[in-house]
Amino acid sequence: MSDSTAFIPFARPDIGQAEIDAVARALRSGWVTTGPETHAFEQEFAAYLGGGVQAIAVNSATAGLHLALEAIGVGPGDEVIAPTLTFTATVEVARYLGADARLVDVHPVTLNIDPAAVEAAITPRTKAILPVHYGGLACDMAALFDIARRHGLQVVEDAAHALPTTSGGTLVGRLPSAAAVFSFYANKTMTTGEGGMVVTHDDALAARMKVMRLHGISRDAFDRFTSRTPAWYYEVVAPGFKYNLTDIAAALGRVQLARLPAFVQRRHQLAARYLEQLQGLPLALPAQAPAGDAHAWHLFVPRLSDAARVTRDEVVQALSEAGIGTSVHFVPLHRQPYWRDRYGLRAEDYPVAEAAYQRMFSIPLFTAMSDEEQARVIAALRACLR
Ligand SMILES: *Cc1c(COP(=O)(O)O)cnc(C)c1O
Repeated sequence: MSDSTAFIPFARPDIGQAEIDAVARALRSGWVTTGPETHAFEQEFAAYLGGGVQAIAVNSATAGLHLALEAIGVGPGDEVIAPTLTFTATVEVARYLGADARLVDVHPVTLNIDPAAVEAAITPRTKAILPVHYGGLACDMAALFDIARRHGLQVVEDAAHALPTTSGGTLVGRLPSAAAVFSFYANKTMTTGEGGMVVTHDDALAARMKVMRLHGISRDAFDRFTSRTPAWYYEVVAPGFKYNLTDIAAALGRVQLARLPAFVQRRHQLAARYLEQLQGLPLALPAQAPAGDAHAWHLFVPRLSDAARVTRDEVVQALSEAGIGTSVHFVPLHRQPYWRDRYGLRAEDYPVAEAAYQRMFSIPLFTAMSDEEQARVIAALRACLR
């Protein structure tokens, strides 16, 4: 695309003929709900992570987070600790279960949950820590696992941005947490339209999540229609949910997963070019992964530094006038009316997230973006920050 005025969206899914063919095959197969495509997708996802884990496909990461918290036994009166700089889905699922969210501040460099703030927020009701690998950079998992071990807490990772991310050389999904939950929402590092994957090492948790994913039924529909025991017979063992992924979505996901290594390479190229060419501007560029670790580069989030003579809103406006879409990740949850009012949260208790929020903006970084498009983003930023 060499059109120098065409709108560059903040994100655009990278969907080609192979995805279209796979979806068409699923549609023609006569089995559109959870079935062979979904089973294969789960196997291939677990294999991508290196095996030895169970992958459970769901129709959103939000559903996966809900299943994971239910499976570890989060219930009324319990508390979970999460960063304020996240999407509401991370913690809304605690409310589904009658539990409460304790929102804490983030680290000034990484914008990930601050382990010291986690430790300070622990009460006798705390059940779990919910780290979010912000933008695709791993949280300080060694510190969080240490806190969890000392206080007898579970860890459920919101890995919506973290495909693929490593921490201490280990892929997110293989770390010793109760579960890690990936998102395949339209703008994530791979997509199924809507969808997610819960990954766990724990067979008992996996068994519970599989049952709760489909109405609390002890056999899924595919099993019922393919096994030798009578197809009509099933048992309801709990009041479960309706969180299964369709084979239409899984067929799309299988192709995206096969393309993930190429996606990763392109994201890394784009991020490296931003890191290089946005130097010398009044910007704090996003933190990079420690040596030996991988950043998923789901997001690229610069922050204006003190030397900038424009505000964040002015930068967003200038980029918009140059035909460039941006976003802000995130309006911190302590500012959202529901969370603020429910817990009486005050901005002054979240100085790091507050300062970051005032100065941050997310610029386009998606695999279908051309080098010319990225050059336009860089030029527009240079022009407005000059
Ligand atoms: C996208 C996102 C989610 C929710 O994912 P869905 O698949 O849309 O449910 C959860 N947490 C974070 C941090 C996200 O960015």
